[in-house]
Amino acid sequence: MNAICPNHNCKVYSQSLFQVKDGFYYRRDDSRYIQRFKCKICYRKYSNATLTLEKYQKKRRINYILRANLSSGMSMRASAYNLKVSQKTIERKLIYLSKKAKIRQLEFLNIIKQNPVHDVQLDDLISSVHTKLKPVSVSVVIDAKNYIVLGAKVAEIPAFGKLAKLSRKKYGRRVNQHPLVLQNLLNDLTEVVHRSALIKTDEHKMYPLIIKNTFPCSRHKVFKSLPASIAGMGELKTKKYDPLFAINHTLASFRYGIDRLIRRTWCTSKSPEHLQMHIDIFLDYYNEKKLWKRFKSKKIKKIPMAM
Ligand SMILES: [Zn+2]
Repeated sequence: MNAICPNHNCKVYSQSLFQVKDGFYYRRDDSRYIQRFKCKICYRKYSNATLTLEKYQKKRRINYILRANLSSGMSMRASAYNLKVSQKTIERKLIYLSKKAKIRQLEFLNIIKQNPVHDVQLDDLISSVHTKLKPVSVSVVIDAKNYIVLGAKVAEIPAFGKLAKLSRKKYGRRVNQHPLVLQNLLNDLTEVVHRSALIKTDEHKMYPLIIKNTFPCSRHKVFKSLPASIAGMGELKTKKYDPLFAINHTLASFRYGIDRLIRRTWCTSKSPEHLQMHIDIFLDYYNEKKLWKRFKSKKIKKIPMAM
């Protein structure tokens, strides 16, 4: 890291001028010597750890393995037991890892902007928060050619079907956030998806309007929903050819990799925000895995790991 002054009130704030080395300290948590610095203008002392997201962490060693565990179908409680840390630590790490994942995903999308995606698929995954009476929808957009997730966002939706009446009675009317969240998700991807891209979706009634608003020059193809198989996590289809296989396979991977999305699981989300955090971590891990497989043979340097 280049030394830059972290003091907001200093004349050389966030500049590397007049910054000098000022010894080391030993960080017992990961057995490393950390360089310290001093600003010669404001005399503020700081170190290589000051401006990182991991500042004040005491269990840096588990960050990497926890990220893999949370994206491989392991519950937070099981991760806490296996890594011999408190459940509270895992709760805090979830927030940290999601911040890290968001930064990495933004960097990744900036790289994709140079070559916008031409083949896009879009669909929604239904889950619930606290109880089945409070359903949520996760809108997912992918690059269908490379099976890379471009974005995923959680929205609260009203209960439907047999549970609708009971849900209204017990928890009142729920706001349908889905159209707004989907619009925001697509707005974030206007530079990543090519103007004249081919967008494939199922017959959801909201899709044509929102896609036309955001990508007026795109080609939107709609396919009829097919019956799903239980072995495919309720997402993969039983028929022999599925034109939306890429998105359905990705959603099945979401269900397989995130414990709280597995069907008939013992794990539930307690809030949409935490579900979104877990999805952000998984999405970053999933993209890295896909890219690593693709570039392994070509010896291309892989994206740096979260640490
Ligand atoms: Zn300073």
